[in-house]
Amino acid sequence: AVELGLPSVRRPRRTSRQVMVGDVPVGGDAPVSVQSMTTTVTADVNATLQQIAELTAAGCQIVRVAVPSQDDADALPGIARRSQIPVVADIHFQPKYVFAAIDAGCAAVRVNPGNIKKFDDKVGEIARAAAAGGVPIRIGVNAGSLDPRLLARHGRATPEALVESALQECSLFEEHGFRDLKISVKHHDPRVMVAAYRLLAARCDYPLHLGVTEAGPLMQGTVKSAVAFGVLLDEGIGDTIRVSLSAPPVEEVKVGIQILESLGLRERRLEIVSCPSCGRAQVDVYTLTDQVTAALDGFPHPLRVAVMGCVVNGPGEAREADLGVASGNGKGQIFVKGEVVKTVPESQIVETLVEEAMRLAEERESR
Ligand code: SF4
Repeated sequence: AVELGLPSVRRPRRTSRQVMVGDVPVGGDAPVSVQSMTTTVTADVNATLQQIAELTAAGCQIVRVAVPSQDDADALPGIARRSQIPVVADIHFQPKYVFAAIDAGCAAVRVNPGNIKKFDDKVGEIARAAAAGGVPIRIGVNAGSLDPRLLARHGRATPEALVESALQECSLFEEHGFRDLKISVKHHDPRVMVAAYRLLAARCDYPLHLGVTEAGPLMQGTVKSAVAFGVLLDEGIGDTIRVSLSAPPVEEVKVGIQILESLGLRERRLEIVSCPSCGRAQVDVYTLTDQVTAALDGFPHPLRVAVMGCVVNGPGEAREADLGVASGNGKGQIFVKGEVVKTVPESQIVETLVEEAMRLAEERESR
């Protein structure tokens, strides 16, 4: 966890086995990783690789691609070979695509337990191929694809039903001595999802892939995921996360990273401490905040920047940051490490903050 100088109240991390997804460790003492899924047709290799490159640039560490057809399976070698991050093949219905994914050099395979039953006799073969290829398998249970028998017995996709389904699927692989598994038990309701993962965490030592499935559009999905992941990660549960949004997957990665940063599980790069504005504001705080955020996006070091709409509370808040501005009378008081270094016209606030940020970066790099 990031050292904040605060007493730690987080419960210890759950002890889990570690699997390697390509070169990314998942579970054990590995940092919680962020993953996403492409939305391109996988068979369109160039479009898929382009999207993977965008995800990689955004900080994605593991990427999943859907493999619903032979054309998609045929595309896997080109994608797995050229992707900069490990590629997970998401497979439903067809065991032959699992073998194709392993042969293609995919770093992991996700199988749907509602469908794997149809190829029970293939489980041993899959386990042997995965073991030989060093490829872990994710058992991905979703409320929507729960085994109909379990659904009938539990009445609906309860936490118990999700966990029973996952552990049953795991046992199919365990019978063949295969334990390089990670598990997800996703539900669209964060409360059900949290209960399911807690139950699962207590009943196995496999690494857990957290996800609120079908979480919704950007705003709703972000809130649902942040709430659910926040609760679980704070309890030490969860080894890799995927935020599911009805929005471009790069947004999923950004949200996932912000969740980890907010929990102190990853060092925050750019933190904007901006005020919500109020009747005292003497500047358009929203626009100024957007401009400052855009101008400092990608800054190479941790940086906390305060953007305050007035000089009433502004200076006090701005002093807590590495850099800050408190606006008033068409001007901005610029703070660096708690000291006012200059006062500039409103039109020069953004460029001055960037200059001061660069100065801080140079100082840091010359240390
Ligand atoms: Fe209002 Fe000033 Fe506080 Fe912003 S810093 S919320 S403008 S009092």
